Amino acid sequence: MPIGRKQSRNARERRNRIITLRKRDGDICYLCGKLIDFANLDQASLDYRTIDHVKPVKYGGSDRQSNLKLAHRKCNQKRGSNTDAHLGL
Ligand SMILES: [Zn+2]
Repeated sequence: MPIGRKQSRNARERRNRIITLRKRDGDICYLCGKLIDFANLDQASLDYRTIDHVKPVKYGGSDRQSNLKLAHRKCNQKRGSNTDAHLGL
């Protein structure tokens, strides 16, 4: 199925991105400065690692490595809602 192939390719790209970001920035959440536990594979967990767009895509941020950083899910979510609140959206 084409959809299945696309999803697995995206998953592989995401893994490669995470490896590159870890080499560049270390295992640190750029928002709170604490360690990210990459052994935590529970995607629903608040401490799960996410890739954050420093400048959100919806505000014109790019998908390039230079605009991406690692963050905990909870920090990413907090930041996202703060950004929206700040802009009055
Ligand atoms: Zn964090």
